[in-house]
Amino acid sequence: MPTISAGALKRMLHLPANVVVSTPRVEDDPRGGSVVIVPVRPHAGDMDRCARCGGHGRPYDRLGVRRWRHLDLGCARLLLEYAPPRVMCREHGVTVAMAPWARRKSAYTRDFEQQVAWLSVHAPRSAVSALMRIDWKSVGPVCRRVADDLRAEQGAGLFDHLRSIGVDETSYRKGHRYMTVVVDHDRGRVVWMHEGHGEKVFDLFFRTLTEAQRASIRVVTGDGARWIDECAFRWCPQAERILDGFHIVSWATDALDKVRTAAWREARKKGVAKKGAKDPVKGARWALLKNEDDLTAGQKAQLECIANTNETLWEAYKLKERLRMILKQTADTADPLLRQWAADASLSGIPGFVQLGEKIARRHFDILRTIRSGLSNARLEAINNKIKTTIKIGYGYRNLDNLISLVMLKCGGLNLQLPGRQ
Ligand SMILES: [Zn+2]
Repeated sequence: MPTISAGALKRMLHLPANVVVSTPRVEDDPRGGSVVIVPVRPHAGDMDRCARCGGHGRPYDRLGVRRWRHLDLGCARLLLEYAPPRVMCREHGVTVAMAPWARRKSAYTRDFEQQVAWLSVHAPRSAVSALMRIDWKSVGPVCRRVADDLRAEQGAGLFDHLRSIGVDETSYRKGHRYMTVVVDHDRGRVVWMHEGHGEKVFDLFFRTLTEAQRASIRVVTGDGARWIDECAFRWCPQAERILDGFHIVSWATDALDKVRTAAWREARKKGVAKKGAKDPVKGARWALLKNEDDLTAGQKAQLECIANTNETLWEAYKLKERLRMILKQTADTADPLLRQWAADASLSGIPGFVQLGEKIARRHFDILRTIRSGLSNARLEAINNKIKTTIKIGYGYRNLDNLISLVMLKCGGLNLQLPGRQ
């Protein structure tokens, strides 16, 4: 019977260099199947380290045996086993000694947590929970520990060389509650998130930056709210404040959606569409709101149906698409087109678009500045959608910090790799 040396086993389990492993044993898993128990300990010189600071402490007492869940071995769960001492740290008092394979206060190894975090970014939480065989409530805290570590690795450098940033308030937990998200436009990633919205919250962001970091910011984009402009002006007077193209298009999609809902209600009232019947107007929501170039064949057919049956809705749709196209032009080309658009919308008689026509006319020069800024609207939209879908995935996360961690893992440009891979 061939045996595996302790060194080979350690390599296979991808354990840190300063860990010693002993002969594993296999037991019946109370949850079914088998469980592999691998006794481990840190090198003699590393057994007395404080889990908080990593410094040497004085031995205090010993605790009982603990187990840490590691990555599975075949179909068996694998647990590392160790009875850690408690040590007296000069700075932190009595703490459980550091276990090099795990984060402080976690019952999982670092590699296990990393795999859970990686999977959470790519799969729904139910899949993560089933595949990794952990309680779904534990997934959020795991993501948080991993994200905190990865952010700490990046250090304050995360905020270095910011050139153009965007700020947005996003609702979570089925609307009504908001958080503020700051995006780095150049690198297409989220750099900061915080509960709440408004000037005070945005203020907190600028406070976390150094003076040099604030000075490097040249452009601040947002939805045109006054508090964004005022706050940005106070902290970064040198930065140009720009309305972001994504929001300009969303004004039109919001107006369009209201026209669609009204059309659907009208159809119901007339009895054209019975309850539960498939109505082209109701089903066409995504076809209407999506960018024209992203439509599927089915959605194109839905639009064609609307073009033939609902004049108002079709007009509103065409206005939305036209505005989106204008934003893609150069500023010189866009200038007259935008004026024409505002005039057409004002005279359209379509509720929502009349007001929008006036708004666009009022913000004519702001919009031209947006176009001149050259910030890619598609990119902005992409990161914005990514944030929104991640928030939807994270609805079940009871703790907001866990939800923020998930967004940072997915959209924060953190270096999240599967364990043992480059
Ligand atoms: Zn310490």
